Amino acid sequence: MTVEVATEGDVIEVVKYANEQQIPFLAVNNAHGAITTVGRVKNGIMIWMRQLDSVQVGEDGHTATFGGGILDKAVTDALWAVGKQTVTGGCECVSVIGPGLGGGHGLLQARHGLVSDQFVSLNMVMADGTLEIIDHTHELWWALRGAGHNFGIVTSITSRIYDTKYPTWAFQNFTFTGDKVEALYSNINEHLLRNGTQPTDLFHYSFFSKNAAIDADSPAIFFYILQEGVDAVREAVVAPFLALEPFATFKGSGDYPELPGWIGWANAAATCQNSGLANTRFPIELQKYNVIAQRRVHDLLRSTMNEVPALNRSIILFEGYSQQGVKAIPSQDSAYPFRGSNLLVSPVVRFNENGEELTRKAKTLGEALRDILHEGEDNRHNIKRTYVNYAFGTESVEEIYGNEFWRQEKLLALKKKYDPDGKFSFYAPIS
Ligand SMILES: Cc1cc2nc3c(=O)[nH]c(=O)nc-3n(C[C@H](O)[C@H](O)[C@H](O)COP(=O)(O)OP(=O)(O)OC[C@H]3O[C@@H](n4cnc5c(N)ncnc54)[C@H](O)[C@@H]3O)c2cc1C
Repeated sequence: MTVEVATEGDVIEVVKYANEQQIPFLAVNNAHGAITTVGRVKNGIMIWMRQLDSVQVGEDGHTATFGGGILDKAVTDALWAVGKQTVTGGCECVSVIGPGLGGGHGLLQARHGLVSDQFVSLNMVMADGTLEIIDHTHELWWALRGAGHNFGIVTSITSRIYDTKYPTWAFQNFTFTGDKVEALYSNINEHLLRNGTQPTDLFHYSFFSKNAAIDADSPAIFFYILQEGVDAVREAVVAPFLALEPFATFKGSGDYPELPGWIGWANAAATCQNSGLANTRFPIELQKYNVIAQRRVHDLLRSTMNEVPALNRSIILFEGYSQQGVKAIPSQDSAYPFRGSNLLVSPVVRFNENGEELTRKAKTLGEALRDILHEGEDNRHNIKRTYVNYAFGTESVEEIYGNEFWRQEKLLALKKKYDPDGKFSFYAPIS
């Protein structure tokens, strides 16, 4: 059953009703959460949050309050109209709270930190249907910023907002054929990533994807550089990549709200459509690109696509956000465990679900790609650091929430206290 709630009171009523009837429930905004654990909701109630999409800019001009079902574009546009910004995910059709409860990466994180670092307070319906207002004085404050899906349903958030200092952004994209893997990623390491010190005004992003018009046999590489506050990405930034003789390159500029349209993250783009495909991600956080591993994952993607054409819409995403704003906040201050990472890498295995055999092959491919990337880490972490919002669902609790003993202990104690019956144990459960 789906209940489309319109008010905070509706959410409370549904949770109380579901508890009385002993029915499981799950809050949903735009249904991008793809982790397999949500499949454990059987005969439950989907609490559809989309009507909770209000925006109210605070009188102080430093905060705004958003409905718990609001999507990124609504926030960006409403704030833009009054000369303000905040950190949201990059994709227009994703919600603010879905990513935010697990950290939340976005283009402005280099300046201000993660989506969750902007939270000032959250109104949250708890497991027993009571409402709590959670701010920095509350025991759950730490946990909601990184492991938040485990504790309640957020009906509204008050977040920090900022004056728009740099309204203009520029982009340059490059298409490379697969033979440029080593040269491209070694250039990115040297000229952009620079041991985790990529300048705050830059974002780089690339993905491997098969495109018959470029190469029928081997995935091409689509690579983007975005720069804040300029009309064209600076020559010194693009020069090393132009020197690699891309198959094609294209550039442009405009205002910040146009940015998702340049990189395929706008509402009208394929990313935001329901293609009917399974999109299974196998994420891993890295410090830098290992060009040998990059070649190995490219090779494996290529050979698998040729052997199993049903998987040939799969891609591998490489997201290179600048990290200064994220790293400025002490790691122990929130449940988000991976502030030291520089790169978010995700094999995305895409296919039309068509029986167990194909699903098994898809999973095998995703795991194998992730294993190669893990083996290629310089000082290999003993866990595959997994961004909760991209997790496949078979990762360990340590891989998702960090393997420090104190983190695990703290999360478990809070879970036991605030959700002892596991009402919120469908999305990346702690227990
Ligand atoms: C196209 C695309 C683009 C993406 N872009 C980014 C990005 O730029 N940055 C980033 O960090 N991640 C990004 N992600 C990953 C994203 O963080 C996760 O997919 C996230 O789960 C999406 O949240 P949603 O609310 O849109 O999806 P939903 O499936 O609606 O929600 C996901 C889960 O969040 C919980 N939830 C939802 N609403 C509430 C609520 N109000 N209160 C409490 N819990 C709630 C539920 O457990 C639910 O299962 C992207 C994913 C996709 C598919």
